Amino acid sequence: MGDMDPGVALTFDDASLDKWVNLLPLFQKYNVRATFFICTGCTDSPLDRSKILALSDAGNEIGSHSVHHLHLSQYITDHSIHDYYTNEILPSVQYFDSLNIPVTSFAYPYGDQNSQSDNFLSKYFQKIRGICLLDPSEDGAFLLAIPRIPNPHMIGRFLFHCWIQFAGIQFSKI
Ligand SMILES: [Zn+2]
Repeated sequence: MGDMDPGVALTFDDASLDKWVNLLPLFQKYNVRATFFICTGCTDSPLDRSKILALSDAGNEIGSHSVHHLHLSQYITDHSIHDYYTNEILPSVQYFDSLNIPVTSFAYPYGDQNSQSDNFLSKYFQKIRGICLLDPSEDGAFLLAIPRIPNPHMIGRFLFHCWIQFAGIQFSKI
């Protein structure tokens, strides 16, 4: 796909590994690939490494969704963006490194972002996914953001956190 070709990016957030792995046959049937933004500290029990590897081995991208799924704006008010990176992002990237899964994408928990975090984190990630505001001219809107639309057939069922997202990706400034 060329840089300017239209497309759809499917992303899944948090840590529903069992449900995602169960989707793999469906993905393979339709030759679909997705990005799974995994929050490494979102469950009480350790993440099942074999399920993460299964997602990755099937050709899907694994992205960071932080460690504890905190609100970034409050965190950097109380601490700093550097602390957020050190404590909430770096450990998750290192976790995936230990599985030999390179991580080049990050999704903000709750879509909670600002220009300071965008600028800082764009040094570390090729793609950053945030909230998709209805009005692209609104302060904080991503250049390429288009509203993300929940799949009405999935909400409230086993894919609650699945969103169909239309080009809601910010590309790195690097
Ligand atoms: Zn999330």
